[in-house]
Amino acid sequence: MPSRYRSEFDSVIREVKAHERWFSRSLPMIASENVASRRVRDVMASDLGHRYAEGWPGERVYAGCKYIDEIELQAIALGKRLFKADFVDVRPISGVVANLAVYSALSGPGDRMMALSIPNGGHISHGKRDFSGSAGLVHSLEIDYFAFDKDVMNIDVDETKKRIRAAKQLRLAMFGGSLFLFPHPVKELSEAFREAGATVCYDAAHVIGLIAGGRFQDPLREGAQVMTFSTHKTLFGPQGGAIASGSEFADQIKKAVFPGTTSNHHLHGVAAKALAFAEFLEFGRQYSGQVVVNAQELAGRLAGLGEKVLGEKVGYTESHQVVVDVTKYNDGGSMEKLLEEQNIIVNRQLIPGDLQAGRHYTNPGGIRLGVAELTRLGMGRGEMAEVAEILHEAMGGKKKPKVRARIADMREGFQRVKYSFTESPAYFFS
Ligand SMILES: *Cc1c(COP(=O)(O)O)cnc(C)c1O
Repeated sequence: MPSRYRSEFDSVIREVKAHERWFSRSLPMIASENVASRRVRDVMASDLGHRYAEGWPGERVYAGCKYIDEIELQAIALGKRLFKADFVDVRPISGVVANLAVYSALSGPGDRMMALSIPNGGHISHGKRDFSGSAGLVHSLEIDYFAFDKDVMNIDVDETKKRIRAAKQLRLAMFGGSLFLFPHPVKELSEAFREAGATVCYDAAHVIGLIAGGRFQDPLREGAQVMTFSTHKTLFGPQGGAIASGSEFADQIKKAVFPGTTSNHHLHGVAAKALAFAEFLEFGRQYSGQVVVNAQELAGRLAGLGEKVLGEKVGYTESHQVVVDVTKYNDGGSMEKLLEEQNIIVNRQLIPGDLQAGRHYTNPGGIRLGVAELTRLGMGRGEMAEVAEILHEAMGGKKKPKVRARIADMREGFQRVKYSFTESPAYFFS
């Protein structure tokens, strides 16, 4: 029998190889991305990825789970230590699913949630129904916005207190976001939310690694009652989600995760989360410290080269992100493309003031840069100075081949994954 689909099969493999080759000579700077260690990636390809284990360890409704239960209990135990929480659920298969589980556990359709608007940093999973946001579209939550002060790129405490007092049926507060430069005023606002009858939640999708490493803020000690997150942004684990909270929410959250929002919960991912949590307990403090140093160095250097970096009045950043207003060149969408042509992978970003200026999410005013992955590959302050120069030149767009060559050259020394028990190659698919 001649094979009919062998060439399609092979072409997919070739594309994956091409992708790895491209990324190995690029600057991967998407703030929500990172690179996992070899062992984390190996376990993702194990037999666990074929299995089912609905329910909680020890209470499964599937056979074949004796090792799976041990692995999940380990993941939970490591997670409790890493996030200093009495309850951890590692089953949500993504950050959005973790948010949906929390909405389901703690609010009903038609209730209200206060969150950041998207130009001010909110995530689409916090969004209104009108914008097809998960909170509104999937869970029918009504959304009120935090007041935001763009001069300091943070929530305006006094103005927000007024909005909390005026809000009706406010059941949830959701701190955190996707454009996230400075710790949020959880301490300052939690009491007002609780008095209004709302549960205080914190979406740490982006910054959970910095939180776990002790380099950002500690929401669960500052008044947040529930924390959701992704496990692959600053936390350098597999793509996935998780929830941490006090034990008083455990029963509600467990039910909202299964059967509420998952059936199969991706057991290869659970094992990979356990490994990444162990790596983070060992190396997370050092890693996240370097991430913040690198972001601040990059921001300062870009500003020194004349770029308009947001948060100028407050030191640009205290996270892994740097946000640049690119309206003097073009817009964030065009800039994203121009940089991609030069092997610099970043994403466009809505920034405060965009909507008033008539810009929207396809052509926003900014780009968002993340240093979490470059840091995991071993880069430090010296490299950030060079990355700033490369970016500055690339944004001008006049010498594309030279920029590409300079990046390939620089990347030769950064092909391995650091901050893990055994250093491993970042690209090995073949
Ligand atoms: C990335 C992100 C999410 C979504 O996480 P996924 O794991 O991609 O589903 C949720 N909330 C915020 C604030 C994010 O930035």
